[in-house]
Amino acid sequence: MDYVIPEPDRPSVAVAGQQARWPVRRIFCVGRNYAAHAREMGKDPDREPPFFFTKPADAVVEADATVPYPPQTQDLQFEAELVVAIGTGGRDIPEDRALDHVWGYACGNDLTRRDLQQVAKDMGRPWDWGKAFDGSAVIGPVHEVARVGHLQSGSITLTQSGEVRQRGDLADMIWSVPEVIAILSQSMALVPGDLVMTGTPAGVGPTLAGDVLEVAIDGLGKLRTTIGAPL
Ligand code: MN
Repeated sequence: MDYVIPEPDRPSVAVAGQQARWPVRRIFCVGRNYAAHAREMGKDPDREPPFFFTKPADAVVEADATVPYPPQTQDLQFEAELVVAIGTGGRDIPEDRALDHVWGYACGNDLTRRDLQQVAKDMGRPWDWGKAFDGSAVIGPVHEVARVGHLQSGSITLTQSGEVRQRGDLADMIWSVPEVIAILSQSMALVPGDLVMTGTPAGVGPTLAGDVLEVAIDGLGKLRTTIGAPL
């Protein structure tokens, strides 16, 4: 294919134990998927239908990277999340077949400009400026299901320069991974390469340049990120 400008790089992330990489297509994110986090955001954690937002594929940042403190915010926050890697696409995927579409899992950190997100909420504007900025999707190596199995319970934590800030269990998701895949695929055809960030447990908070953030999920190891000086 000829293009009139140089073709942009295809975003990708590492795969645990392999040289071959994971090509990132879209990044879907589930809002408020742990009851205690919904409460800390001032919302009723009743089981209203899940809602989604997206990040661009090239917002991906890999493990052990330094993310510059982003512009136009005074309140960058961390959100530890389980990431689901879709290996087989589909639409209207039934819940009882949903896990067949999962190739693997990763640790993630949904970096958020909370002040810009709050303005968007208050004014009924899109969340993109709070959620979908450069470097906002920190994704660790993808671990193949064939090696780690499906993760339905287990600890998820985030430490900030060694202090535990978030501690939850994957079993506490309001909407499980099969439910999220089933519901998402009713609105969008899922395609191989899509990633789904499945929401964060309670304890989100601000981070500053110099912080070392570490997300840990049972079976998936740790995902470390350093917050750097602004560009
Ligand atoms: Mn999130």
